[in-house]
Amino acid sequence: MRILVISDIHANLTALEAVLEAAGSVDATWCLGDLVGYGPDPNECIELVRSLPSLVCLLGNHDAAATSHISLNAFNYDARLSVHWLRGVLKPQNMSFLAGLPEKYVTHQVTLTHGSPRNPVWEYLLDTHTAAFNFDFFDTHLCFVGHSHVPLAYLALNGTGNVECQLFNNGDKLKLTMRAILNPGSVGQPRDHDPRASYAIFDPEEMTWELHRVEYDVLSVQQRINSLGLPRRHAIRLAQGW
Ligand code: ZN
Repeated sequence: MRILVISDIHANLTALEAVLEAAGSVDATWCLGDLVGYGPDPNECIELVRSLPSLVCLLGNHDAAATSHISLNAFNYDARLSVHWLRGVLKPQNMSFLAGLPEKYVTHQVTLTHGSPRNPVWEYLLDTHTAAFNFDFFDTHLCFVGHSHVPLAYLALNGTGNVECQLFNNGDKLKLTMRAILNPGSVGQPRDHDPRASYAIFDPEEMTWELHRVEYDVLSVQQRINSLGLPRRHAIRLAQGW
């Protein structure tokens, strides 16, 4: 069984299309949130994700910001600008789709969420200390998260209470024997200095996780960002992966 696990598309249609093509035929797609924000194609990305068969989709912090009147204080200046732009361009049906997304979802013995099991929409898991606390906030063997845009796994070392972090490169495969929190990286705005779009294939029968990277036409996305008048920083970072 092949389940495509993606996150943080961030309105980058070109990267999303490249991932779907590279992943090929899958039995289901699990999307861990942040379909929008930063990028130029929010409506197109939502519509493509919605069309995927056997989809489970979670709410990200940018999705929440686009669809509610929450304070944008937690966002930096450029991120705030793009949220204001988003609120103006999102089609009503796409706005309702985002507004209806769950913060947490359990399927196939896996807990899915955007940020962390403790604070689903907002918390970043950036270190083993924070990750270790979070193992008490889900009951399943595995938890999949996005949000940090870095493909990695936090592995609970059996019986010790300690957690180890493992970073993933293209083609890395892990047999999931111990409890783990796994992040497939970001489709539309990778932040590990590898600009290629990131995704994972999870096999719940074999209990394996395989990380993949795929190149896409970054320049065309940069041109759309610039022609829409969105912050240039969002275009520059795509070429460098930060
Ligand atoms: Zn994100």
